[in-house]
Amino acid sequence: MKRVLITGAAGFLGSHLCDRFIKEGCHVIGMDNLITGNIENIEHLFPLKQFEYYHHDVSKFVHVPGELDYILHFASPASPIDYLKMPIQTMKVGSLGTHNLLGLAKAKGARMLIASTSEVYGDPEVHPQVEEYWGNVNPIGLRGVYDEAKRFQEAITMAYHTFHGLETRMVRIFNTYGPRMRVDDGRALPAFFSQAIRGEGITIFGDGSQTRSFCYVDDLVEGIYRLLLSDYVYPVNIGNPVEITIKEFAEEVLEMVGNPKSKLTFHPLPQDDPKKRRPNITKAKEILDWEPKISRQEGMKRTLEYFRTVVNVDETVG
Ligand code: NAD
Repeated sequence: MKRVLITGAAGFLGSHLCDRFIKEGCHVIGMDNLITGNIENIEHLFPLKQFEYYHHDVSKFVHVPGELDYILHFASPASPIDYLKMPIQTMKVGSLGTHNLLGLAKAKGARMLIASTSEVYGDPEVHPQVEEYWGNVNPIGLRGVYDEAKRFQEAITMAYHTFHGLETRMVRIFNTYGPRMRVDDGRALPAFFSQAIRGEGITIFGDGSQTRSFCYVDDLVEGIYRLLLSDYVYPVNIGNPVEITIKEFAEEVLEMVGNPKSKLTFHPLPQDDPKKRRPNITKAKEILDWEPKISRQEGMKRTLEYFRTVVNVDETVG
């Protein structure tokens, strides 16, 4: 039975990965310090013998007894609201945390996969973004703490591969959505859904002409699983190339939720907000034979069902 360590296990993506690896018959060790995660995301796994949970900050020395076959490093504040509130922890988990886990992988002879991000491309001058593009990041801008931590994470992971021969994999994740996203994480998608459910104004930053490409979580998890089992060591974009403007997306949410009290409202654009986002997934198609299967309509329907169970209609957020 393969033994897998998943950091950030109580988070949105980490919890779905725990589910997937349990389903594949692995022994899963979840690790989290719950700074942005929610233990309820993995509570259903606690009765299982194949699941263990460690409450631990991975920026500190990481010890796991026994053998490990795979390490998936997903711990990190991930939404702008979180990493702007916790800039130092964000930089530490991307740098010290990654270093600690690479050391653990080396000691155990495990394969390590890191969660990188489309944010390594910054505000891109190349569209759609290909893996060979080096990016346009402002290191001292507000978002620099996240973008540069992830860029460092890629660099040190490649160094461990080159200098220590460690087996490494890197996924550059584009905007992903689905059940277990936090309602108040500041990202457009949960904000739009919860505002529409509560009958509040939908907050669009700028004129809404900026684009995003949303990937449903099950598609992402499939891509990550295939990448882990592949022998490809360079970064691979995993995301959905279907691009939509934020304004069009808000209109789709309004229509799907069907609350007549909600209307679009426009607000100033935050600093360094990327104007365009769309993955080129040629590599994922060629190397992993992967492409997204779940349409936005279907993914949004499943996500809305989840948000209806967690959004308190009487509670308004200021
Ligand atoms: P999330 O906030 O839901 O999950 C992150 C988890 O990491 C949380 O449970 C948090 O408590 C935990 N964590 C943070 N710092 C930690 C530390 N020092 N030690 C232990 N645990 C720690 O976010 P998510 O959306 O699930 O993102 C997971 C990973 O995927 C992150 O690395 C993120 O950068 C990356 N990613 C996500 C997206 C996306 O669209 N969701 C896009 C690109 C990259």
